[in-house]
Amino acid sequence: MKTPNLSAEQSRLVVEHSPSLIWRSDAHGSVDFVNDALLEFTGRPLARELCGDGLWSTLDGGVDDQDRTLLQQHLERREAFDLVVRMRRYDGLYRYVSMHVAPFTNDDGSFGGFVATCVDIDERRRADEQKTAFLEMLAHELRTPLTPMHGYIQHLERRISRGEPVFIEMVQKLARQLDRVEALVEHLSDAARINAGKEIGIAMGEVDLTEVVRELVSRHGHTNEITRRTELVLEAPDGERIVNADATRIRQLFRHIITNAIKFSPRGGTIKVQVESSPFEHVISVRDMGIGIPDSDLEDVTRAYYRAKNASPENYPGIGLGLAIAREIAEAHGGSLRVQSALGQGTEVTVRLPAARAEA
Ligand code: ATP
Ligand code: MG
Repeated sequence: MKTPNLSAEQSRLVVEHSPSLIWRSDAHGSVDFVNDALLEFTGRPLARELCGDGLWSTLDGGVDDQDRTLLQQHLERREAFDLVVRMRRYDGLYRYVSMHVAPFTNDDGSFGGFVATCVDIDERRRADEQKTAFLEMLAHELRTPLTPMHGYIQHLERRISRGEPVFIEMVQKLARQLDRVEALVEHLSDAARINAGKEIGIAMGEVDLTEVVRELVSRHGHTNEITRRTELVLEAPDGERIVNADATRIRQLFRHIITNAIKFSPRGGTIKVQVESSPFEHVISVRDMGIGIPDSDLEDVTRAYYRAKNASPENYPGIGLGLAIAREIAEAHGGSLRVQSALGQGTEVTVRLPAARAEA
């Protein structure tokens, strides 16, 4: 069934009130009509500012500077096309805008020009980009420990098949890489949980805080002696420090902080892990002499997926979740996490956990 056409009056109303950005141009691509949504988007009070070449001057300035040329090339073909461009908004920010452009003919059948509807797709586009970056990073990080694991296994196979003795160090190395894979998978499942907006699950039990921290320091200190010569030092009074907590989560909390301290200390130096206790709380701090965090990023680093400007993905791989998870764990235990830092000098992360309450 053919639906009847809209009247000229109805079409005008649709265009006027459409949330889409609409423009029309003559046969040469010179704009001669824009709707209110487009005026509002660009922050221009007068339509004539966008007419002629005006609208095209809000393009470009993006990362590639090619949008305007690309659009011109499309228009020259005098065919319908879809194009994503970056357009300057009223606030000066460039937004990804999806354009659907259609040619029209005049009453006498000659080529008249183009009408176009455009939609701001910036948020969707950025979310997609973030997802892609996340998956790429994850694949990269999972591959990193797998490569040496293959090497160790081949080496072990060769020795065993030749009847040669197998060294315990080799098996330990393999176990350490396996730990890394396990930690990554745990990280991935936390990422899925955070994306789904679910809260962290905590299973309370008795945990010896000193033991957890000591074990992490010895494990990570050891790997690191070989690779980067960063020294991990633990300062903790002797004796147990029992807290009411989820053992796996507490281990995870400090692992995220300690692996950050190692990762962001490319020039080595000492990482000091300190444990102090009062009758009310335990204060655990991890201090490094690494790259530090710019002041402007400091407030945000415990937000999910946030990474500071100086944490370039090539030199410091990561997805920006470790600290967010660490803070979540500390808070789920009634504690807190705080980050202090001086750019180029080092960072200190302090975790406070309430001491196990005495039975009344
Ligand atoms: P992930 O932990 O998910 O693998 P990540 O280490 O980049 O990735 P977080 O641990 O959440 O992410 O840390 C967030 C950001 O905070 C880091 O990207 C980095 O910019 C900054 N940061 C965290 N710890 C340190 C540190 N010890 N020194 C310098 N910068 C740090
Ligand atoms: Mg991290």
